[in-house]
Amino acid sequence: MANSRFEYVKKFETHMTVLPETYIVIRIDGKNFHEFSNIYKFDKPNDIRAINLMNACAKNLVLKYKSEMICAYGESDEYSFILRKDSQLYNRRADKLTSIFVSFFTSQYVFLWNKFFPIENSLNLKNLPMFDSRCVNYPNLDIIKDYLTWRFVDTHINNLYNTSFWALVLKCGMTTREAEQKLNGTFSKDKNEILFSQCNINYNDEPEIFKKGSLINKKGEIMHVDVVNQINEIFQGF
Ligand code: ATP
Ligand code: ATP
Ligand code: MG
Ligand code: MG
Ligand code: MG
Ligand code: MG
Repeated sequence: MANSRFEYVKKFETHMTVLPETYIVIRIDGKNFHEFSNIYKFDKPNDIRAINLMNACAKNLVLKYKSEMICAYGESDEYSFILRKDSQLYNRRADKLTSIFVSFFTSQYVFLWNKFFPIENSLNLKNLPMFDSRCVNYPNLDIIKDYLTWRFVDTHINNLYNTSFWALVLKCGMTTREAEQKLNGTFSKDKNEILFSQCNINYNDEPEIFKKGSLINKKGEIMHVDVVNQINEIFQGF
């Protein structure tokens, strides 16, 4: 290839590099996992095997790049990886970062699937998992903390909704349409009340891993904690 007259085509390649001295967030998200979770019969609202699988993949990614990593945070079919602002990984090229992270994650997901799901629920060639990936650049620690808080609050809102929805369907015998209508326009306190009085569920007693999502520190330790309270500790030294 070297020095052929065709090499000029390389000049058409543009490489987005993320700004220097800014935090890098790479977020991956499962493609069409609403359907994927139905095909592989995930427990609703939360399949613990699927969450543990996501966590195992993310942990391996954190450990592979631990010198670059501040932390990772995941819920449902998504994971965010937060890199140090001085990271020089792949010369800060956005296309390299997003593509390598998402392909690493996807191959881990396929490889580890059978560690978490039984053999009769193995992946089939027609329904293999895919993930998308994006790389976002944040200029300071305050915004990075708000980013993490945003994902954490999203976990809470989604989980409270999903827990209420599936309790109404599975425990109270409502149709999915009835459950949807019942929850339409409700606030958090209303959902807590519906869960308690109609479904006999105290939301506070739900597992922390569902309510809080999963936070992985740079050592690869997985925690299910109140991210908002921990935020100063997580970012100490960064
Ligand atoms: P897109 O391709 O746009 O991301 P999507 O179907 O993946 O579409 P998301 O908003 O990412 O939509 O939502 C992921 C969906 O995957 C959830 O709504 C839920 O139905 C399902 N899901 C993901 N993880 C789990 C889990 N651990 N247990 C049960 N269901 C899950
Ligand atoms: P980078 O991560 O920068 O792409 P690389 O090691 O993948 O680094 P490439 O320029 O992409 O470098 O070259 C791929 C290398 O993979 C080849 O030089 C060769 O050593 C090896 N390789 C790829 N395909 C084959 C193959 N079919 N048979 C033998 N070796 C192969
Ligand atoms: Mg999406
Ligand atoms: Mg998705
Ligand atoms: Mg998602
Ligand atoms: Mg190569």
